[in-house]
Amino acid sequence: MSETTAKPSVALLGLGIMGSGMARRLLSLGFSLAVYNRNRHKAIPLGEAGAFVAASPREAASRAQMVLSMVSDDDASREVWQGEDGALLGAAPGSILVEASTLSVDWVKSLASKAAEHGCQFLDAPVTGTKPHAAAGELLFLVGGSAETLSAARILFSALGRDVIHLGPTGSGALMKLVNNFLCGVQAASFAEALSLVQAGGLDRRKVLSILTAGAPGSMILKRMAEKVETNDFAPVFALRWMAKDIRYAIRSASEQKLTLPTASAALADFLQAIADGHGDEDFAGIVKTSGFTGF
Ligand code: NAP
Repeated sequence: MSETTAKPSVALLGLGIMGSGMARRLLSLGFSLAVYNRNRHKAIPLGEAGAFVAASPREAASRAQMVLSMVSDDDASREVWQGEDGALLGAAPGSILVEASTLSVDWVKSLASKAAEHGCQFLDAPVTGTKPHAAAGELLFLVGGSAETLSAARILFSALGRDVIHLGPTGSGALMKLVNNFLCGVQAASFAEALSLVQAGGLDRRKVLSILTAGAPGSMILKRMAEKVETNDFAPVFALRWMAKDIRYAIRSASEQKLTLPTASAALADFLQAIADGHGDEDFAGIVKTSGFTGF
């Protein structure tokens, strides 16, 4: 980005794994940034790094020309935009609101209508990429909404992402992201089942991992999971409970189109079992534990 480009003021709502990296990235590029997080302690280091720490989403939004939300799920998004001191009450007419969390298509469409009632422009812009990509400005934004609004928000996407793809009207970005994560979730669940068979059959686990990751099934998801499993490191990069949430929203979207996604339903059952077993806050690779695989 050119040093001479006028940067809009930005409010970022949600400083979890993704939002905190995005906030630091914006600060490093010289954006004027207001941040809000439900648990304020996560915002303090951002305040020390130069962000304004707002007491509410409303206060954060009132200081910004662009408001970006990066929270967990529909309930969290409803809370930060529409809660008692929600961002919609603070956002000035004409400001651009960007919802980058992975959410249901239904909710995103409803949020777009509410934004319009407040005279604001709105984009659903969920991302692919994970913690390191958020911190390095290497996300891929999947955008739904008008081309004009996207054009006006491009400076923000360029700061945070390696690319931005316009999928169509409001909800298109959300649906694309749910399709993406439905496929990821099914692969993760099937890999977990495969590992239980590997273990029961007495195969050498390290040889198996190297064959699978180098072979036809070796997707990015399998490679990423194999690394987690091999190092026995299940610290969350993408929490298991959020993968379950995404599969659930994908199933809901399909049912609105009178479709069923049987493999998604089977994967969701495995993820829900993993949450019940206490692995919800671990990385989604922790799904292997519920399949009975005992690791290395
Ligand atoms: P995270 O670390 O669990 O952070 C979740 C954020 O949502 C936190 O700031 C949390 O606030 C906030 N939140 C939750 N419930 C809330 C509520 N009721 N009201 C207000 N704030 C609430 O999650 P993340 O990994 O950053 O993911 C954020 C979004 O990005 C999710 O939609 C996820 O599916 C998506 N995503 C994640 C990744 C990834 O690799 N991690 C990749 C692509 C997309 P507290 O700190 O107060 O709990």
